Amino acid sequence: MIRLRYEPGDDGGITAPIIQCDHCQEEITDCRAAILLWLSENPSETYQVHKGNCDRRFEDGYAREHGLPFVHFPWMSLDRFLDCLTHNAGLSAALRARKERAQLIQTLRRRGKRSAVHKPGIVDRGLNYD
Ligand SMILES: [Zn+2]
Repeated sequence: MIRLRYEPGDDGGITAPIIQCDHCQEEITDCRAAILLWLSENPSETYQVHKGNCDRRFEDGYAREHGLPFVHFPWMSLDRFLDCLTHNAGLSAALRARKERAQLIQTLRRRGKRSAVHKPGIVDRGLNYD
């Protein structure tokens, strides 16, 4: 599940968006080690789980809760889902792409070059690098 987590602190704390595993309830800190599951008949209901033990145990638990012998969830890797989600929501470049672009711009600044920067797959809209 996608939710906000509040961490208290001396300066009022911080509220941060996180993805929580729908099986073990731990935070998913590496989206490459997690998947998104959904039911074919209801794709608007999604679940995020760690790959491996959590996804298998989630499927088994879901089947048991619903009195079914087995449930096969379609799935996709969580990093691919997040890339598609940010693109479909109008964010011109995913965070990874923005970080790569920012690093590339830093490198060019050190070299004294301010010419156009283009790297395949990275769009420069939405970045302020002046
Ligand atoms: Zn988990």
